[in-house]
Amino acid sequence: MRPAVSARAGRIPKGNLAELFVLARSRGAIDLAVGTPEAPETPRPLVEEAVRALRSGANQYEFPQGGANVRRAIAASFATPADPDTELTITVGGTEALCVALFSLVDPGDEVILLDPYYENFLGAVELAGARPWFVQMREPGPDDPDWRLDPEELAAAFGPATRAIVLNTPANPTGQTLTIEELELIAELCERWDVTVIADEVYSRLVFDDRPHLSVTDVPALRDRSVVVGSLSKSHAISGWRLGFLRARPELTTVFRRVHEITTNGAAAPLQLAAGLTDLFDAGTLTAAKELSQARDETADILTRMGLTFRMPQGGCFILADIRGATDEDCRAYVRRVLDRSSVLLAPGTPFFADEERGRNYVRVAFNRTPETLAAARSRLLP
Ligand code: PMP
Repeated sequence: MRPAVSARAGRIPKGNLAELFVLARSRGAIDLAVGTPEAPETPRPLVEEAVRALRSGANQYEFPQGGANVRRAIAASFATPADPDTELTITVGGTEALCVALFSLVDPGDEVILLDPYYENFLGAVELAGARPWFVQMREPGPDDPDWRLDPEELAAAFGPATRAIVLNTPANPTGQTLTIEELELIAELCERWDVTVIADEVYSRLVFDDRPHLSVTDVPALRDRSVVVGSLSKSHAISGWRLGFLRARPELTTVFRRVHEITTNGAAAPLQLAAGLTDLFDAGTLTAAKELSQARDETADILTRMGLTFRMPQGGCFILADIRGATDEDCRAYVRRVLDRSSVLLAPGTPFFADEERGRNYVRVAFNRTPETLAAARSRLLP
């Protein structure tokens, strides 16, 4: 008998947090596993405008490419500005943006390079596009180098005639690492040599810490025309349920992306786009997410250090990827389970973020986009 589902669908990795979630929720545990924002608070003007938009009757389809105001606001927010009319498409979260990019850029059988560890949806989306993932292992932080590092030789060896795209993520989930100009220039050179497109997930571009600016692939001249950028308002504006993301690309690609996006969703929620377009979306006064989250990062880092975990301090994003070997001999699943049983705090096992289970077993991922109250409660449970 033929399998009921496509081979592509069958290859999507199974999310394996579900069971732990049910258990954690039934026990009233503090969830530091998922990235759903508890902090920062959703900006009040966004909520007010959304209610007004619904009441005003903005309840039908928007143009698939997205509302003009919100496209304009997002396009103007980049260090290297984009043309909102020809280079930007509003999508249903960064999640849809990634799928649209992959469906538009790769054919079944093509190879797509992923830097490992990776955000687990990258792998699922590559599989769904029928492409083959090619993993490049980032070197783990060690005594000689505290960063997650790209190995230039391993990276170069990953490129070949079948390579169609490379997915980057800066700042990254789960490591919190940002890619350096040197790394981006090396990637540009290889992409040029092998005619490869960069899909850069920059959904955490507004969450870069320690007063550093976000370095986008579109700020690197050698990459600008080879790159598409996946973005999102989910975390920066704490509106993950609104499902507002975007896709930035040069005009010829944008034309194709918009066609594909008409097939995948035909557009994001009209009243919510309208609301986002009517507020000062990126006004420094209304967007203090990075400052707030850097304090939450420091607090979380202190708790984890006291638990005996080691990690690279995230430069951005909302996660810490922590090595548990200083605290336990267990693998991450057993450790997560024991922490849940003992302290009623849920951490995420590291294995789903690594191609190689053996590497992932030593890590847990901890989300720190939480309020000071939640982190204080987590501290008292984890460090009694
Ligand atoms: N990319 C990365 C790296 C993420 O961590 C997430 C959310 N966890 C997404 C994309 C998806 O975000 P969105 O809510 O915009 O679909």
